[in-house]
Amino acid sequence: MIPLLCPICKDSRSKQIANDIFLCKSCNILFNNAYQQLPYFADYFSAEYKNQYGKTYEDDHDAIYAASLLRIKKIKKLLNNNLAGKSLFDIGCALGFFCKAAKDSGFQLVEGLEISEYAAQYCKEKFSISVTSVDFEKFLTAKKYDVITAWYVMEHFANPFAMFQKVYSMLHNDGIFACTLPSYFGPLFYCHRDIWIKNHPADHRIDVSPRGITRLLKNIGFVKVKCYPSGYHPERFCSLASKHKKIYIKLSDSICFSDTIMVIAKK
Ligand SMILES: [Zn+2]
Repeated sequence: MIPLLCPICKDSRSKQIANDIFLCKSCNILFNNAYQQLPYFADYFSAEYKNQYGKTYEDDHDAIYAASLLRIKKIKKLLNNNLAGKSLFDIGCALGFFCKAAKDSGFQLVEGLEISEYAAQYCKEKFSISVTSVDFEKFLTAKKYDVITAWYVMEHFANPFAMFQKVYSMLHNDGIFACTLPSYFGPLFYCHRDIWIKNHPADHRIDVSPRGITRLLKNIGFVKVKCYPSGYHPERFCSLASKHKKIYIKLSDSICFSDTIMVIAKK
């Protein structure tokens, strides 16, 4: 039998979590052995999105833009709030709402990458932001950026480790990488394991933990890595946590206990 290797660190020691989901005992990252890239639908940002969330991606503009500003605030802090001459590249930029927020916040050069032709065109025409329409795995460039972002993107690649390395190579020295990722160090995985397993997306190759992703990025060469909860769901923890939301948020912030996390790393 061929040993099952972790796609991140290539170690063969793992613990089975579900049929095809394993926890690597060496790097602490969960990997999905039945991962498959789902076919991309041209109407993802309209009909399919509406089907999933009850409104189109475009209808969601205000909420996405507001969330983008909060993410930019954290990134700006690491740049000493000085965006003069700074460039930003957003991987999987969708209709470009984050890119627009980055441009409005003062980034001087903002570019996006988006596999959907429709979304890329939308961003170019509506916001005059340059978007390349190609998969990041096939994307080739010699350009370097001050900031690279990827919101819920990295977990979708067949070889996430190589893609993290690619991001690192595309950053200037002192450059910043910011992303959001699914984390198993959260209430869904710990308190509702069956639901977590049942709903685990087939096209997610990995789920990280704050500790696991910090180690991974430092192994690649990043010098400073910080993780933040990307959402608070006390109701997923227990009814007591829902009653004491403030305490739950404090605890969640202090140990980064959340089903999704934001990671900021400095090269
Ligand atoms: Zn591993």
